[in-house]
Amino acid sequence: MDTMIYPSLPGLKDAGLFRQAALIGGQWLPAANGKTVAVTNPATGAVIGTVPDASGAETAAAIAAADTAFQGWRKLPHATRAAALERWFALMEENAEDLALILTLEQGKPLAEAKGEIAYGASFVKWFAEEARRIDGSVIPAPAGDRQIVVLKEPVGVSAIVTPWNFPNAMITRKVAPALAAGCTVVIKPSEFTPFSALALGVLAERAGIPAGVINIVTGMPAEIGAELTANPVVRKLSFTGSTRVGSLLMAQCAPTVKRLSLELGGNAPFIVFDDADLEAAVEGAIASKFRNGGQTCVCSNRILVQAGVYDAFAAKLGAKVSAMKVGPGLEPGVEIGPMINAPAIDKIARHVADAVAKGAKVLARAEVPEGGQFAAPMVLTGATEAMELAQEETFGPVAPLFRFETEEEAVRLANATPFGLAAYFYTESHRRAWRVGQALEFGMVGLNTGSISTTVSPFGGVKQSGLGREGARVGIEEYLETKAFHMAGL
Ligand code: NAD
Repeated sequence: MDTMIYPSLPGLKDAGLFRQAALIGGQWLPAANGKTVAVTNPATGAVIGTVPDASGAETAAAIAAADTAFQGWRKLPHATRAAALERWFALMEENAEDLALILTLEQGKPLAEAKGEIAYGASFVKWFAEEARRIDGSVIPAPAGDRQIVVLKEPVGVSAIVTPWNFPNAMITRKVAPALAAGCTVVIKPSEFTPFSALALGVLAERAGIPAGVINIVTGMPAEIGAELTANPVVRKLSFTGSTRVGSLLMAQCAPTVKRLSLELGGNAPFIVFDDADLEAAVEGAIASKFRNGGQTCVCSNRILVQAGVYDAFAAKLGAKVSAMKVGPGLEPGVEIGPMINAPAIDKIARHVADAVAKGAKVLARAEVPEGGQFAAPMVLTGATEAMELAQEETFGPVAPLFRFETEEEAVRLANATPFGLAAYFYTESHRRAWRVGQALEFGMVGLNTGSISTTVSPFGGVKQSGLGREGARVGIEEYLETKAFHMAGL
């Protein structure tokens, strides 16, 4: 029973979508000790609301609620779970404008991009509602004649879902939809920077008739919540999207209880432009892959490698587009690049640019930025080299460094010279080169002549230190299913 009073958020059609409480076993609750965390609008610095700063005790309560709900949810017919997900999907579509507004207010991205994320996020709910109907096993004829081996697919169990701030809606649905479809229940810990998008999804799940305790949302600072989620033996699975640093920490914390893991971690995507590329298309692809969400995307191209013969022409074309980019608050019409998420993000970008310039890079193009707020200037840097910090780690901002290479072998070597392996892109008109390079790149996702690779129907995930497992596509639900071999003898 919901007895709390919620202040609205200006501009929302449905004030009830803005919740400043945690969701535990169907109850909207404050932290037991009354502590809260403020959430700010990165475009203005204004506080837009607060959420409970939950402790280990609330997290344990959420896990217990998920465990209780699991006993009923797992036994429902697949079609019943699918129907609940379909209703949740329909409500996300109906409330897309409000969800996008909440997203832009807490995360900063331009409203058009926020609407795109809501559609993308909702698409996973639809997709896995359909996949729920197709969970099946198999029967293996046993060597002994009197028996059959029945291979059953069963839900893993209570799943912890830990998500980042850069896609506060879609990173949740990409995990929660397959979990619920498989029969698992979840405890979500959204980023402390963007909890309101998660809580709005919780409201819609409730309205969709998803039973109490199937989705629990614990908000607040991460260390204590994470410690409970990883140590508690009732949690059988952790699905995490975020940095490699935190992912590997959580992996270690999960080791004593040997939990199943899905990890979607950081990237350092190369974007290779060969001499024989369609340059106009390559510039468009570079803009799409580099500047989406202001460069704060794990699959953003981080290193743009350009063959010597087209280097200057490509740089000039890209520079012209980048210097004309409109930067500002995400709610302002026409804005292409919103604010960065927080002050440390701005500092990291500035550090990378200063290091590159000190090591010989030149600023070829730079867009105007408004005064105040957490804005970073979109930039093109020429003369980038492997020795620079921006070659080694994600800049996570609107900075496009151009590296020069001579041969295909050199391009592949440079592209693979990273401990990360999430996304890579390359542009060529040669089908032989396309096949060779596509095979040689050590990445979980590769785009040929495209800068856009994120879609519900394709497996999403990385190799090396970019993670474990795949999300979306037909394989996405497997992450939440166990395989049981049931040997039936004496038949
Ligand atoms: P982050 O690792 O700082 O945080 C991710 C989540 O982990 C947040 O919810 C945070 O509160 C939580 N967290 C932090 N410390 C924790 C702890 N000790 N215990 C439990 N939880 C903890 O990452 P971020 O800054 O929110 O997101 C940006 C990173 O995410 C980038 O590296 C980006 O590449 C990556 N990312 C990857 C994908 C992908 O699919 N591979 C998608 C989006 C973002």
